[in-house]
Amino acid sequence: MAKRRKKPKWIDNIAKERINILFSLAQKEYSNNNIKRSTRYVELARKISLKYNTKIPDNWNRRYCKKCYKFLQFGKNSKVRLVNSEVHITCLECNNAIKIPYLKEKKAKRRAKYEQYTKEKRVNE
Ligand SMILES: [Zn+2]
Repeated sequence: MAKRRKKPKWIDNIAKERINILFSLAQKEYSNNNIKRSTRYVELARKISLKYNTKIPDNWNRRYCKKCYKFLQFGKNSKVRLVNSEVHITCLECNNAIKIPYLKEKKAKRRAKYEQYTKEKRVNE
């Protein structure tokens, strides 16, 4: 089997930079009430991420609908609710919900609290 050549790092960097630019443009066009153009920017950003196998940065990954590719503005065309240790981001255009669990963060917080408690106990003894 032929050895797969590793993807050079600069491709990743340029792709990420372009995705960032496209998403900030999408946000700008959305606030200018140009929904069509903002959706187009999201589509282009997604295409770049697919073509170069690069992840969309976390802060932008939650800002578009995975079904209709519309840019999501919280409180305008999307709502964010906490249900069963999950963040539900609902697109109000097509009613598609993105569900992100936050159990790991919850557990880490609980552990930190417990450790703090045992530390205080030790000091008091
Ligand atoms: Zn949608």
